[in-house]
Amino acid sequence: MSGSALVIGGGVVGCASALSLARLGWRVELLEAGTVGGGCSHGNCGYVCPSHVLPLAVPGAVGTALRAMLRGDAAITIAPRLDPTLARWLFRFWKQCRNDLAVTSARGRHALLTSSRSLYEQLFREEGVDAHLEEKGLLLVYPNEREFQAHSETAAWLGTEFGIETRAISAADLTEFEPALKPGLGGGWWYEGDAHVDPDQVVTALRLLAERAGVSMLEGVTVTDLIVRGESVQTVVTTAGDIDADVVVVATGAEAPFLSRRLGLKLPIQPGKGYSITLRTPERAPLVPMVFEAQHVAVTPFRDSFRIGSTMEFAGYDRTLSDERLALLRRSAAEHLVDPGSGPPLEEWCGWRPMTPDDLPFIGPVPRVNNVFVAAGNGMIGLSTAPATGLLVAELASGVKPHLDPAPYRLDRFR
Ligand SMILES: Cc1cc2nc3c(=O)[nH]c(=O)nc-3n(C[C@H](O)[C@H](O)[C@H](O)COP(=O)(O)OP(=O)(O)OC[C@H]3O[C@@H](n4cnc5c(N)ncnc54)[C@H](O)[C@@H]3O)c2cc1C
Repeated sequence: MSGSALVIGGGVVGCASALSLARLGWRVELLEAGTVGGGCSHGNCGYVCPSHVLPLAVPGAVGTALRAMLRGDAAITIAPRLDPTLARWLFRFWKQCRNDLAVTSARGRHALLTSSRSLYEQLFREEGVDAHLEEKGLLLVYPNEREFQAHSETAAWLGTEFGIETRAISAADLTEFEPALKPGLGGGWWYEGDAHVDPDQVVTALRLLAERAGVSMLEGVTVTDLIVRGESVQTVVTTAGDIDADVVVVATGAEAPFLSRRLGLKLPIQPGKGYSITLRTPERAPLVPMVFEAQHVAVTPFRDSFRIGSTMEFAGYDRTLSDERLALLRRSAAEHLVDPGSGPPLEEWCGWRPMTPDDLPFIGPVPRVNNVFVAAGNGMIGLSTAPATGLLVAELASGVKPHLDPAPYRLDRFR
């Protein structure tokens, strides 16, 4: 290919898409409204987690979330308001909560997760781009014996169905395995194939590789419209003037519905607001990343800091930091860790996860428009699935044989 490609959005997915397009021969320009990597890709928990094949929508998910909301300690909350788009999204989510559909989503997620895991390994082997991927697995920590035992069925299924290896760590062995944990917890499951990384370093590495491959990146430029003539987009209207491109890739994360609406496409993506607190590394920092399943709170030990993150608020496109949600993160860390960190935080942050009802991203061509592709909706695993998402959209835009079956991610699947 030797045409021009424009990638809109400079998150981890946009950067990975730009890199793959450039490597397939396109002249690539990437436009980012803010700073590259400054969206949801910035303050996330940094898990590269092939174990996360299960979608959020599983049988019983709605009931569990409603019960937690009534108790007041829910990881998922919905801000009460009249929002027909959110209501439609929630209805679709509820319809997804079936065994067969959850398994279909899990297969689609597994394909992206495993491909991305090996693509990251290849990318970070290249000269000067080591993002320090730490291969220490991921420990799920349960508050009591009953909940610890209840996970064994899921663990066995993940092993049989997807070859995901896990090890049960009993309550008695837990503090020896992870001395940062308080005694008295119910046990843990260790997913040894998972890894973690500082998400800023991933974007920096992808950006470096993309620029080396010839991509030019413009920051502070917002795309405001896509003008269709005939059956293709001819002009991309931006705050820095109009731009023409042979191919356009919309990689604007949770904001993808805005631009796709200009193309007659209604993408069911909702911003699922999550929070994180980054602290100086405490004296007795965790050795491995962990998820405290009681509140679904994640902790990640980075090289020179420590992050607590989680919660999912469906509150529209709202960037307010809620003290209550941040307090929930700190409370969960204090309940589980000997030393949950003290002192002023280095950063308190929130970001919009691009959530789809079936927890699969949209990757592929826009129906009825010849030259626009979408790569968005990677939900809770965007960091873990970015390389394969970017490669797949670049392959589809280039008309080469895709390395994955693109069918699970097609844009018209909710029609
Ligand atoms: C608390 C939390 C923890 C998480 N932990 C993990 C984890 O451990 N592992 C994992 O895999 N995932 C995790 N995630 C999810 C992950 O962060 C997201 O899936 C991922 O960052 C999405 O990347 P993206 O590139 O699609 O979106 P973004 O990073 O949001 O990038 C989209 C970019 O598009 C730009 N943009 C939007 N509109 C326009 C426009 N019109 N013109 C130009 N630019 C535009 C935005 O400014 C933004 O920079 C977590 C998320 C949260 C909130």
